[in-house]
Amino acid sequence: MSSKEVDLFVIGAGSGGVRAARLAAQRGAKVAVAETGALGGTCVNLGCIPKKLYSYAAHYGEAFEEARGYGWPVQRPAFDWETLKSKRAREITRLNGVYENVLRGAGATLLRGRARLLSPHDLGVEVEGERQRWHARHILVATGSHPLMPDVPGAELAVSSNEMFDLPRFPRRLVVVGAGYIACEMASIFHGLGAEVTQLVRGTQLLRGFDDDVARFLAQEMGKKGVQQRFGTRVRCLERDGDALRVTLHDGHRLHADTVLYATGRGANTAGLGLQDAGVRLGDAGEIVVDARYRSSVHHIHAVGDVTGRLQLTPVALAEAAVLVDALFGEGTRGLAYDNIPTAVFTHPSVGTVGWTEAQAGERFDRLRIYLSEFKPLRHALSGVDERTLLKLVVDDASDRVVGLHMVGAEAGETVQGFAVAMNAGATKAQFDATVGIHPTVAEEFVTLREVAREVQRGHRPK
Ligand SMILES: Cc1cc2nc3c(=O)[nH]c(=O)nc-3n(C[C@H](O)[C@H](O)[C@H](O)COP(=O)(O)OP(=O)(O)OC[C@H]3O[C@@H](n4cnc5c(N)ncnc54)[C@H](O)[C@@H]3O)c2cc1C
Repeated sequence: MSSKEVDLFVIGAGSGGVRAARLAAQRGAKVAVAETGALGGTCVNLGCIPKKLYSYAAHYGEAFEEARGYGWPVQRPAFDWETLKSKRAREITRLNGVYENVLRGAGATLLRGRARLLSPHDLGVEVEGERQRWHARHILVATGSHPLMPDVPGAELAVSSNEMFDLPRFPRRLVVVGAGYIACEMASIFHGLGAEVTQLVRGTQLLRGFDDDVARFLAQEMGKKGVQQRFGTRVRCLERDGDALRVTLHDGHRLHADTVLYATGRGANTAGLGLQDAGVRLGDAGEIVVDARYRSSVHHIHAVGDVTGRLQLTPVALAEAAVLVDALFGEGTRGLAYDNIPTAVFTHPSVGTVGWTEAQAGERFDRLRIYLSEFKPLRHALSGVDERTLLKLVVDDASDRVVGLHMVGAEAGETVQGFAVAMNAGATKAQFDATVGIHPTVAEEFVTLREVAREVQRGHRPK
């Protein structure tokens, strides 16, 4: 085999691509990876990591307020946007280096350039002005996704989540358009950092696809903290007005903002890759259609992660990459079940969820028992903060299995991660009840819920 021939060529060194390249190389495959941007992809550079760092920063703002109730007579100091940006940038540069070491350490060849298919087995990559041609036995497309921008007049004045972490000036007034998890997180985080935030939502609730009680409760809690939400509204146009932006809504109402963020969806990065010429079938939204082992319509071209338009989460891209490498270079025994994938929304307060929503479960099971608890957590007994917590269990009455577990409250992701193991193991409500709580915690409520809040028959949609 010449040096330009590989067993696996990976396009994209993000979450899925790096994991696949490393695992394949560790199994002895000859691997090349092309990356046009920063190593680590969206999660490391423009997603999970900077977002979580900024969420921590925003929590410090709240902590100054809460501390007063506990006897610390502190005033909230001025927040320094430049410090946060530069420290984030330094940490991410460090992580980029970690990813590079992971790839090189595993023996994969790293190509810093944009790759595209020239024929079903051949790829072209432009690296530092030099055109390279690679021949691959297998190709993995792990090119991720990009934010979709709206088709409204003045849309070019708005930014996407890609720009939010490095805005030249901190937005004193921020308008967030969208109701999905990225929109809600950005609204919460920037509000926590000190911005006046207005969130514009086309429909009637936040977080479509999440449990209705969770969505309603989160809207209420974010609203109490001061995020202004307008439901049933659409932007007619954006215009410049001096230093500010003027947002005109469909009802003629106008708002002024320093920054307008559009977080209204993401599209698969499949354009310009030569996929269709190679015979790869794309779905209606441009995503690569794959089977259970991540094979596209061309048998040696595979895809994992956001580009497949399934669950756009880093751990999902990582798990898919592991299943694929096992199928190509291992025993072929691994699989991934999508039913009980836990996820968190890093709003303030945060959301953690695993399993079915009440509505989804209502379509799958004859009869459900719903357990709900809404309370003021002990932490806020003295803080003076009016934040409440919601816990919810959805139980299949026939089997007694807990099929949905949802939380809105501090550290919801940390809490739900542990319960996800129990759910994956098929835990029943009786087993939850037989588990001793840790006192005093918020999470203990999940094992002390005894009262059925309501029973739901198949097909009944909660109001
Ligand atoms: C604001 C935000 C917050 C998020 N928060 C979370 C979170 O808290 N938790 C979570 O689990 N997920 C989160 N996500 C989602 C998560 O980041 C993605 O699901 C994950 O990064 C997908 O991994 P991937 O490998 O599919 O793609 P990516 O990580 O995006 O990697 C794709 C890579 O391919 C490269 N590329 C594209 N085309 C080419 C080409 N032609 N040649 C060479 N390279 C190419 C890109 O430059 C990129 O580096 C968040 C996303 C965003 C935008």
